[in-house]
Amino acid sequence: MITRFAPSPTGLLHLGHAFSALTASDMARAAGGRFLLRIEDIDTPRCTPEFEAAIYDDLHWLGLEWPDPVMRQSSRRAAYDAALARLADMGLTYPCSCTRADIRAALSAPQEGAPMGPDGPPYPGTCRGRTMDEHGPTDAIRLDMARAAALAGPVSFAETGPGSAGRHDMTPERMVAEVGDIVLARRDIGTSYHLAVTVDDAAQAITHVVRGQDLFTATSIHVLLQRLLGFATPTYHHHRLIRDERGRRLAKRDDARAIRTYRDAGHSPGDIREMIGL
Ligand code: GLU
Repeated sequence: MITRFAPSPTGLLHLGHAFSALTASDMARAAGGRFLLRIEDIDTPRCTPEFEAAIYDDLHWLGLEWPDPVMRQSSRRAAYDAALARLADMGLTYPCSCTRADIRAALSAPQEGAPMGPDGPPYPGTCRGRTMDEHGPTDAIRLDMARAAALAGPVSFAETGPGSAGRHDMTPERMVAEVGDIVLARRDIGTSYHLAVTVDDAAQAITHVVRGQDLFTATSIHVLLQRLLGFATPTYHHHRLIRDERGRRLAKRDDARAIRTYRDAGHSPGDIREMIGL
């Protein structure tokens, strides 16, 4: 078993991150496996070296260990480009110049009541006719979901998380209707969360992806990309989210629940485990 914790250094880690990291590490330890850390620092403007250093420091304080060197997404651009090029060679991508406002306008009246996909409502398809040789520096790159899902066939994965344990399947038709033409490469960072996480989980041979329930709906995209790129599909474990007393999930800006705040107040790693029910 190989599990991972994949935080973005855009803020201090809070109790929800502690829960995620400890769950992944505990699972690997119980199975005699390995726990890896990956720094997801592709959302460049918001990622800082200070937050990255704080991640290492807080996780060590919690008692976690992982092998060095740590994979950092900011040094993985060549791997993302190669995956993108393969999908482009398969005829599954197109450039897209739509702004958020363009998409909102195109979606307005006719799509009322349309399903909400993992990245919002499915893209209305405005740029779908464009070809990759028209790709310019101000374009994002989208996946042509109708073609991709037809080629990949049904998407299927095993889930062991408490809320949704079992096998989950998505037909190509549902991938088109409910997910749609997702962005594979943003114009600013040249990749996307979905592409990077899929390529990196495969590169690190992750067997069990442990992460929050909020990412459950994104999983069908990752499994689809695994099928297209010839990667193995790991087992998924989406855990419950840690919430504040008003029932809201914790956010990075919520420093009151930062691990650092509890450390500074004299709490122990054992106290943190107790607070999050481990
Ligand atoms: N980097 C993501 C986050 O901080 C987690 C990605 C994942 O676990 O797949 O929310």
